[in-house]
Amino acid sequence: MEVTTEAESGLHTVDVSKGRVSWLYFNHSNTAVSLLQNPLYMDAAADGVPVTYAADETEVAESSEGGVDTVTLTHVDDYAQVEMVRTFRITGDTVDVDVQLRNLSEEDRELSLTLAHGTLGTSNQVRATREGDALDVRVGEDYKLKTEFPSAVSIGAGQDRDAALDDAAHGEWKDAEEKNARFQVGEYASTTAPGDTFHVQMKLSVEMAEGLADSDGDGFPDRWELEGFTTSDGTEFPLNAWGADPQKPDLFLQLNWMKSEWETLGCAARTHYAPTPADFAAFTACSRANTNTYRPSRESLNQLVKVFDRRGIRLHIDAGEYYTNIPGYTNHHGGPTEDYEKYYFGGGSKPSQFPGVKLMQERDRLLGPRADVFRVGIIGGQQSPSNYSSGTGLVRDGAFYVAKNDFMTSQEQLRNTILHEYGHNLGLTHSGGYHLQRPDSDYVPNYRSVMNYLYQFAHFDYSDTQSRPDANTPLPRACTDGSVRCYTGDYDIAPDWDHVEMVNGRVGSAQGMAGTSTPDGNNGSGQDGQEGSRPDYEDVETTHQSDVTVRDLEKNAAQYNDGKAGFRVRKNPYNPNVIVANRSDSTVAVEVTNLGHRPHNYTVEASYPGGKWSETVEVASALSNSSKKALSVPIANTTGYDKATMPIQFRVYNESGRLVADETQEFSVLTYTKADMQKLIDELTRTNSPLLAEAKSAFGTPDPGLRGASVTSPITTRPNATLTTPTRKPGVTDLGPAAPTKPTEPTEPTATPTPTTTAKTAPDSAPAAAQGSSTAGIAIGVILGLLTVLGIGVGVAAQAGLF
Ligand SMILES: [Zn+2]
Repeated sequence: MEVTTEAESGLHTVDVSKGRVSWLYFNHSNTAVSLLQNPLYMDAAADGVPVTYAADETEVAESSEGGVDTVTLTHVDDYAQVEMVRTFRITGDTVDVDVQLRNLSEEDRELSLTLAHGTLGTSNQVRATREGDALDVRVGEDYKLKTEFPSAVSIGAGQDRDAALDDAAHGEWKDAEEKNARFQVGEYASTTAPGDTFHVQMKLSVEMAEGLADSDGDGFPDRWELEGFTTSDGTEFPLNAWGADPQKPDLFLQLNWMKSEWETLGCAARTHYAPTPADFAAFTACSRANTNTYRPSRESLNQLVKVFDRRGIRLHIDAGEYYTNIPGYTNHHGGPTEDYEKYYFGGGSKPSQFPGVKLMQERDRLLGPRADVFRVGIIGGQQSPSNYSSGTGLVRDGAFYVAKNDFMTSQEQLRNTILHEYGHNLGLTHSGGYHLQRPDSDYVPNYRSVMNYLYQFAHFDYSDTQSRPDANTPLPRACTDGSVRCYTGDYDIAPDWDHVEMVNGRVGSAQGMAGTSTPDGNNGSGQDGQEGSRPDYEDVETTHQSDVTVRDLEKNAAQYNDGKAGFRVRKNPYNPNVIVANRSDSTVAVEVTNLGHRPHNYTVEASYPGGKWSETVEVASALSNSSKKALSVPIANTTGYDKATMPIQFRVYNESGRLVADETQEFSVLTYTKADMQKLIDELTRTNSPLLAEAKSAFGTPDPGLRGASVTSPITTRPNATLTTPTRKPGVTDLGPAAPTKPTEPTEPTATPTPTTTAKTAPDSAPAAAQGSSTAGIAIGVILGLLTVLGIGVGVAAQAGLF
């Protein structure tokens, strides 16, 4: 017999059983607070003989009057010679239980009844104080219950039913004494004459703890937002000091990102490279490392905050010391905490991981107990081999990954993808809210949302209006030119903003007490993430991993992005970006991407300590295969530069003079003098290093005409042609744009270098010849080849008479 009161908070359902255990279900006005599932055990006996239950022979009467539902169960146990009548009177906040035991035997007997009520479904502590026959029971701060056992012979409480029975048997519970009371027991007994009835009552009532109202529905009770809260393991969340507002929904997001490969290798920390084989190898590794950074710009983070702010939602971001908009927050956890990994979800030389499982683990690793409050976004490179999609987000849980792979070249793409993947966490799909009726498509033409693959790189917002097909709005180009299959049926998608879920996964599931150790919450300690909490795999919900590449999204959005540009530093391990301070012909390979659908002229500017360079280039439409233009940027005025790293700021301006890309990256610098170089070669010679032989076999016999070539004369990074034409005019003008742009997508660094790479010949042949030797051998072989091209190797080597 299930009686549902439909109470929004309080006693929601009572499952009245014909057997021994009935169940009472309590719910809370704050949906983040767990439901209570309370069993009520009834054990009757006559002179010690248990009264048994007989479901088939139990008579049931139900009635409902004046807001009270009544269920009466009547049955007779012939063996125990007892008739038992149980009556439950149920309202939204009380249940009265009335039990009548009638002695059907011919003699006086002792009739007894034990009622045991437990509180399950919560990890909160349950404590009770006694006041006569009544117990005040507090379930954490979530519920207050009153259990009354009028005229009981004995009352007890304990962590489980046995402990409570034991406690009742001792009967020593004094008034006002507080006890652990997950179970509460009342014992009744009376000697009853033949034909007489022993009458027992109990009453359970519930009242909500007032402070747990959650006015703004963000999963944090008002009182916690006003006073902060402390969980049972002592973790403190001074939400009040963090700017939480009980009347305004608060979201907390931690952003962590990978260091660049260059930073991970320790290149940023180097101050000097000695002319030794070991330091030379370290420099080689640094100059070959990927310098692309994964941190989002502060401007992008400000814009994310604004998107939510417009809807009255406060987005609190912890991006480490780099960025936080949380006041009074000093113990950061976000930022560049992660080491570079080539493939975030494994693959290649590492085992692959299931994205959903890994993200759950990362949620717990990066957040620890803070996962009750924060969600986490991780930004890094490519997800797995040959996967160029933009990211993965747990749907309706607390972690996402943004893949700033070689295709993702603009801050807007990165920013929009953060909003998209975070949207999955917040319960949005590619066609609307998770719980809605919606088209089964990632391309719904008129659904204007960053969640839609048609607009991920074009519309920086979730949808705020009802989306319906509209015959008067032209279809996006991608729907008409056959790029993708757009949804053609009828649809009616409710606004995303009406279906953003503030509470899901672990967010809002915290259990604790209001208040922190300091009233104003300004206590950064105690918030350290406790690593290693067990990932709850059962909670793994649908993960969304895209099969659409960043390049596809870029094309889909091209018609909305005229004049916008992407930028990246190219990496080619066989033609690294080497800056040699005492030469004037170093170059760095970069790439400008046209994100719009019309060809566009972009001005690329590079500034570095001591120099500046700029050039205007036309780049073809994003829809074409030549929308990425490779440029070789000369870093010429570096004489006297004595640091081992150099920041270079790249800026890209469009035709209207608008700054459309602005990125600063650091590069390793070799400050060897001619004498240093000689010292290195001498050292290699002295130790009879096989590297020299390798280099020699790699580069073959030099042209005799090159003998004695000056170490300082600039020689372009262009192929041999220039090396064999010593009479050609040297100078930076030779170092302009690279050879005609390769009309291909960026390739992975491990890919075999294509024959059209900017500077091939010597450097490309080096690893081929050096393959099969040790890694260090390859490294030094490559750098010798590289130095050959730069002129140093040949010059010095030739002077040293090595070739
Ligand atoms: Zn998605």
